Amino acid sequence: MDTLCLPAAEDSLRRGAELLKTGQVVAFPTETVYGLGADALNEAAVRAIFAAKERPADNPLIVHVWSRDQLEGLCLVTDTARKLMDAYWPGPLTMLLLKTDRVPAVTTAGLPSVAVRCPDHPVAQALLKECALPIAAPSANRSGRPSPTSAAHVWQDMKGRIPLILDGGECRVGVESTVVDLTGEIPTVLRPGAVTPRMIADVAGKCAVAPSVMRPLLEGETAPSPGMRHRHYAPKAPMTVYIGPDERVATVLREQYDATENAVLLARESLLPLLGQRRAFSLGNTPAEGARLLFQRLREMDALGAGRIYAQGWEPEGDALAVMNRMARAAAFDIVHV
Ligand code: AMP
Ligand code: MG
Repeated sequence: MDTLCLPAAEDSLRRGAELLKTGQVVAFPTETVYGLGADALNEAAVRAIFAAKERPADNPLIVHVWSRDQLEGLCLVTDTARKLMDAYWPGPLTMLLLKTDRVPAVTTAGLPSVAVRCPDHPVAQALLKECALPIAAPSANRSGRPSPTSAAHVWQDMKGRIPLILDGGECRVGVESTVVDLTGEIPTVLRPGAVTPRMIADVAGKCAVAPSVMRPLLEGETAPSPGMRHRHYAPKAPMTVYIGPDERVATVLREQYDATENAVLLARESLLPLLGQRRAFSLGNTPAEGARLLFQRLREMDALGAGRIYAQGWEPEGDALAVMNRMARAAAFDIVHV
């Protein structure tokens, strides 16, 4: 299949909407990462997403809407959901709600809940409005690869597999949306994102965080969110993450680099001057900058042919939880406090 990559504009958006209406797959930008979209209520279209991504069929998709009215008949919108929508939609917050029979099992991987989100990106909004369909869209990477934060990343993974990529520049947030389960008694974050547990508690009164957010699943433990079960966000090279005071992390990174063939470092901007002439990439200075840059850096280090990655992390709390959840998985939980 020929893949077109077009700047998002009126005519390319119309073309994207037409493709979506005929059950095809289109990649588009959101404020979090690029999504791989298709009609959420069309089984064959949703299967085409799984095929293009080589995604395991037991990993459910998020359904994107541009207006709350589109949820009518798709899921049970609770009072808490309504409050959270008032506060954070459009935005990087996905809610799990009980689904109706109209949502096919393939979209939710057979689960009784459906994940819904209203993205805060002009291109995503325009596309969703133009096609007037609820659009199932996981991240537009091949399964297991870092999520794409630019059209070029989507091209690397999806060239020849889908008909159209809409280019809307680089994503502002850089990590996927927060996923909060609203089907139980207490709202529970299954995947951290830019909307933090504290921000959810401010509106909903309470918010729990699933323990699997920062540790691997125990043997026999079922993942509350199937996506957490699969290998994720992984660069090709093995990676170790160090957390601690700058000076100490800098010392360890220098030592590890010098003792390892073909190593690459990933650290906060402020640490780079302490790393000398060694090959090092910047994660910015704040957790939000780290989130925006992480997936891009993983791809850049892969492209450089890195054999081993040593990285600086943040304590996994507050607004650093989102970036550290991804770093932990990219490093297969090889995290060392120094
Ligand atoms: P992606 O958009 O590729 O980041 O994938 C969406 C993620 O949302 C999946 O990996 C799941 O972890 C989560 N998700 C979507 N729907 C559900 C659901 N019904 N129950 C639990 N988790 C879900
Ligand atoms: Mg994904």
